[in-house]
This record gives sequence, C-alpha cells and structure tokens, in this order.
Amino acid sequence: MSPKDSTWIKSTCAYCGVGCGIEAKVNSLGTLEVRGDKAHPANFGRLCSKGLALGETVGIEGRLLTPKIKQQRKHQSKLETVCWEDAIDDVASNFNNVIEQHGKDAVAFYVSGQLLTEDYYVANKLMKGFIGSANIDTNSRLCMSSSVAGHKRAFGADIVPGCYDDLELAELIILTGSNLAWCHPVLFQRIREAKVKNNCKIIVIDPRRTATCDIADLHLPLQPGSDIALFNGLLAFLSENNAVDHDYIESATEGLELALASAFRFGDIESVQAVTGLERAQILAFYQLFAATEKTVTVYSQGVNQSTSGTNKVNSILNCHLATGRVGKPGSTPFSVTGQPNAMGGREVGGLANMLAAHMDFDNPDHIRQISDFWHTGNLATAPGLKAIDMFNAIESGKIKAIWIMATNPAVSLPESKRINSILANCPYVVVSDCMADTDTLRHADVVLPAQGWSEKSGTVTNSERRVSRQRRLLPSPGEAKPDWWIISEVAKKMGFGDAFDYRNEADIFREYAQMTTLCQEGNTSLSDMTAPARPLNLSGLAHLNTRQYHHMTPQQWPVIEHNQPTARLFANGEFATPSGKAQFIATDYRPTASTLSPQYPLLLNTGRVRDHWHTMTRTGLSARLSEHISEPYLALSAQDADQFAVKDKGLVTVSSELGTLLLRAHISKECRQGQVFAPFHWNDCTTSMGKVDTLIAGSRDPLSGQPEFKATPVNIKPV
Ligand code: SF4
Repeated sequence: MSPKDSTWIKSTCAYCGVGCGIEAKVNSLGTLEVRGDKAHPANFGRLCSKGLALGETVGIEGRLLTPKIKQQRKHQSKLETVCWEDAIDDVASNFNNVIEQHGKDAVAFYVSGQLLTEDYYVANKLMKGFIGSANIDTNSRLCMSSSVAGHKRAFGADIVPGCYDDLELAELIILTGSNLAWCHPVLFQRIREAKVKNNCKIIVIDPRRTATCDIADLHLPLQPGSDIALFNGLLAFLSENNAVDHDYIESATEGLELALASAFRFGDIESVQAVTGLERAQILAFYQLFAATEKTVTVYSQGVNQSTSGTNKVNSILNCHLATGRVGKPGSTPFSVTGQPNAMGGREVGGLANMLAAHMDFDNPDHIRQISDFWHTGNLATAPGLKAIDMFNAIESGKIKAIWIMATNPAVSLPESKRINSILANCPYVVVSDCMADTDTLRHADVVLPAQGWSEKSGTVTNSERRVSRQRRLLPSPGEAKPDWWIISEVAKKMGFGDAFDYRNEADIFREYAQMTTLCQEGNTSLSDMTAPARPLNLSGLAHLNTRQYHHMTPQQWPVIEHNQPTARLFANGEFATPSGKAQFIATDYRPTASTLSPQYPLLLNTGRVRDHWHTMTRTGLSARLSEHISEPYLALSAQDADQFAVKDKGLVTVSSELGTLLLRAHISKECRQGQVFAPFHWNDCTTSMGKVDTLIAGSRDPLSGQPEFKATPVNIKPV
C-alpha cells in the first residue's frame, strides 16, 4: 500500500500507546490537516481530541532552532548559538574526557518513549555497545516498567500476549488502574462500541470514579494500593470454587502452590474487604463474573504499574489469567496498555538499563557474545545499569558527571522534582536534545541540540499490541533541527566509534535492528546450561526490506517471520518463553503503600493525566482548543473533605506533602472518595506559577522494576 493517498501521507499519532494511524496533508492555507487512517488496525479512522488537534501543535512557535553552548559552563548562564560541528565536538570531547578520567559508568543517557525506535536503537548501541556502560534508562521507567518485570517473571519475556481485537471479542472487560476514557481514548471508544454491539460486561477497578466508569456495569473503588489483596482473593476464590483450568495449569504452568499459599494468606472475603475497603457484594460480584466468563480481558496501566508493589500487582493479575488458561486467546487475555507512543519500541531495542536490545539478557553469555560479534565491539556492557531514579541519585553523589537527556523533561516529570532540578543544576555537564527551546530541563543544559519534532521525523513506533507502524515525515524541519539518530551517530563518530554509526538513513538502522532480532533464536545456552527458548521478538520478515519497502511498510504486529505476515496473539498454545517453556505463577504478598497517612498529612494524593493534555504540555499547550477542556492545574476532592478543610469550589488551596507545598485550584468532585484527592501532573514552571505536582511526590519505588509510586502521597490542604 502506498503511504500516499493523493496528497495525504500516512503516519502515526504522537501521543499515547494506542498508536493510532493518521493521515495528514498541508492544505492551501499552509496548515497541517490531520484525520484518522481508516485502514490502520489500531483505530480504523477514529481519533481522540489530542489526535485531531495534532495539526495545531506543529508550528515553529517555541522551537529550538540551533545548537547552543554555554561557553563558561555553569558559571555563565547564557547559551550561545554555535554550528553543529562545534556542538558535536563539545559533546563528544566532554563525554570522552569524563570517561577517561572517571570511567565509563560516569556518563549516562536519559531517553524517552517519545523517541522513535531507530533513535532509541542508536542511543542504546552507543551507550551499551561502545561506551560500554548500561547507564541508559528511559522515562518509560515511570509508566510501564512494572509490567515489563511482571511479564518477564510470568512469561519469560516482556510480551503483551493479546491484541486490540480481543477487546471486541471479550464478554467481560476488567479495566484496572486505567482511566482509558482519558488516557487511551480510542481504545475506550472501541470498547464502548463493542459493549453496545455485544453487550459485554465492564468492570472498572479504580479508587476514583473516572470518566471510564461511565460505561461500567460495576465500579470497585478500592483503597489505593490494595490491588494485590483483591486479585489474590480472586485467585483463592477461583481455586476454592473449582473455577481453574486444571489441564492448562498442568501442561502450561509452574508454581501454582506457592502463589496459592500467598493468596490464601489474605484469601477470605472478609480480609479482602478489610484491605480494599470494598463491600462484600461488590467483591463477590467481580469474582463470580470472572469465574463464569471464559472470554475475559483484563486491561491494566499506570494505576497498577506506578506503585512500590507494581510488579507484584501485575503478577497477581497474571496469576488469575494463568489459573484459568486465559492468555493470548481470542477475547481472553491480560493486556498491559502503555502510556507513550513508543514505550514498547524502546523496550524492544534496549532502552531500559536492565535489558539488552532485541529482548536479549545480560545474564546470557550467548547473548553477550552474539551482540558483541554483531556490532563488532569488544566493549559491550555486561551488567545492568542504573534505573531512572538511581541514575539521578548517582549524579547527586558525584558518580555520574555527564548526562545526555533526550526528548524528555525529567525536571518536571520525575518525583522529588525540586531535588531533581537541584541535581541537574549541579551536574558538571548536561546535554539536552529537544525540539522545544524552553523546558524546565533545558534551563539546566550546558549544551542544547535541536531535534526534529513529531511531524518532521521518520522512523517506526510500536504500540501496545506489538504493532510496528511507520511515522513519516510530513513537514520540513525548522532551523537546523536534525533527527535524533543523526545527532547520536555524529557524536558517536566523533567519540571514535566511526563505521559502526555510519548510517545513511533510518531504513539502514531499522534493517540492522530487525537483523539483530534474529540472533540467538536457536540453540543458545543460558548460565544454567539449559537451552533457552526462541525469543518471540523476531522481525526476521522485515530484516531485508530495501529502503523503498521500509518507507512503504504497513503496520505489522511482531513476531513477523515472513514479511506482511504479522502475529496477532502469542502463547495461545500454552508454550512460553521461559527456560522450561511453562508460564510461572508468582507468589505475590500484599504490602501497603510506602507512605502512610498521619494527622499532619491526612489525605492521599493520586496523580495522573487529563483528557486533552500530554506529559509536560510542551506540545498540547500550543493548542488553544486542547487547553479549553481544563485550562489550569487543579486538585479534585470530595465534598466531605471540602467541608472538613473549609475549601470552596474553585477557590485556591495549598497542597503540602513532606517534600513541599504548591498552589492549586480546588474542584469539588464526585470522582474522589473522602480522604483521597487527585491532581494532574502536566503543568510546570514554564506553564504556570502554581507549581509542579511532582515536587510533592517521594522517590519511593518498586524494588524490582524501579518504578516510582506516583499515586499514593500523604498530603494536607489549606484554603488560601
Ligand atoms: Fe493519539 Fe492516543 Fe488519541 Fe489515538 S488515542 S489519537 S494514539 S492520543
């Protein structure tokens, strides 16, 4: 299929992990018109408000147009324009100097789910393959790393087994920790239409009564952080009521006894009631419906992942699907949905500090050897690097002396953002590549590098159903903006890694990555000398596309063994990617959230997104239409708490945690239960004088995934 339909060019939306296909063209007024791509299997022409407004966010306003350097480093605040050659020289020589003086682990990259797969691949190759450190981590750590860890433990690989069609085939859809209506709107539209057509039942599990509850048959407003108790109770209920699939458990799984022992510790309904705060009838209705409905899909996202128990929460959900044999079957599967447009692509090419590219592992010597041979390097990192928060802690302690931040704004989006700002202000050398000229992070940069924006970039992204789609160039780049992969490759060449980064275009990089997925697919051995199974992440069918075929590539779900023969579902045959070939039940003990309420901080703060803004608003803030929905930061609270704290609707309140205080507009709302409040995280120092919500959030994180707990911070409020 040609990417062009007369003058319309097919591409992919810039925002969430649904990965909707769009078509765009420049109209006679010179503006970019955007419409849904009816042929794209993620959305079949649908778009949400953010997707429809893409054309309003692509102007030159606010763009970073030239490379700039602070000649006197931290002592002089002014960035001065330089040519690309000087900027690249500066980055390469400073990184080389730090490595020479302090070792390879004294440098780091902090990258982003906004990068394209080709950008991500080259960044990972430079850091892990040639610098020789695994200190590259991504802002995807903040949104889905608990799902990655949970999938690896249960399935042996970071795999989403299902596909979006399953949402239309299911008879029961459980949405847990997921405000799909605002955060993945097109999937919500697909479910809403399927509900009308098939009368499938919807259960929403969420402390808040969000917009997603509008289509719910049952809403379970559980206590924040109590998900494991609820799903452990479900596992115990399924076992006690003989609602498990014994044949499947016997042939396809291991470890049920340990998981059940853990489940039964809190397994009776009274205990589940006590921990979750739910009513007995609500819990039983959920358990009975799950037990009775073969075609069940459980969708989970940030409400599950962003927790100090995030990985165990994921596994407590997967345990219930394994016990009933509901994995990777039509209309019957667990389903993690990612927040960012290319969080999936990033995890595929090694964007996380604890993974190698193409889902290969540090603890497998064959993987290390074959990657080293493939890249012709003798310097491949052989142990995991520092995860996001640990990386910034290492800057603070002086171990990391140079960081390159690409396409992300950690000065706003990381927890303890006041401390993160001070860490960046004191870091000896900070490089930021971004398309915007003024972000909170960029204010700390010693060097800024102008990157192409969404409408100028070309490459691929992978959405939440493993579908690789092309993002195509729609507009010329303003000023001297360049593709991220080009910037990284030029620095790599200057650092002395020459030929390994001599790419002509993004097609060269994609081909190399696809060829890498074919490594170690047979007969490799792990440390324990067991034969490792084939990895499902296999793009061999795309490994020899010529540049023209790459540019015209249609969306494909991996594994793609033959070109144009994608795979919709995985593990339906009960064979998994673990060494034994069997899926693993995991014992998941319930633990409360890291911080607890006190008389000083008596309310629990939850954070998240609003419908029409994205991340730190560097793009959506440019559209007046998108700002109309919610125009300023706010705190949602119940009428009871408003009474108790003497807060008026639309009045200003200060919100304080142990880490700081900020000002927000009060919204009295039925969405929050008494004792719980909610604030969106989008606004920042560049967009409001009211402050950044992430200044209030502590850096507590899941010990396995490293994902921070963004949804359970004790706070106090006072009317202003
Ligand atoms: Fe874009 Fe997500 Fe909306 Fe689709 S649902 S149009 S990918 S923001």
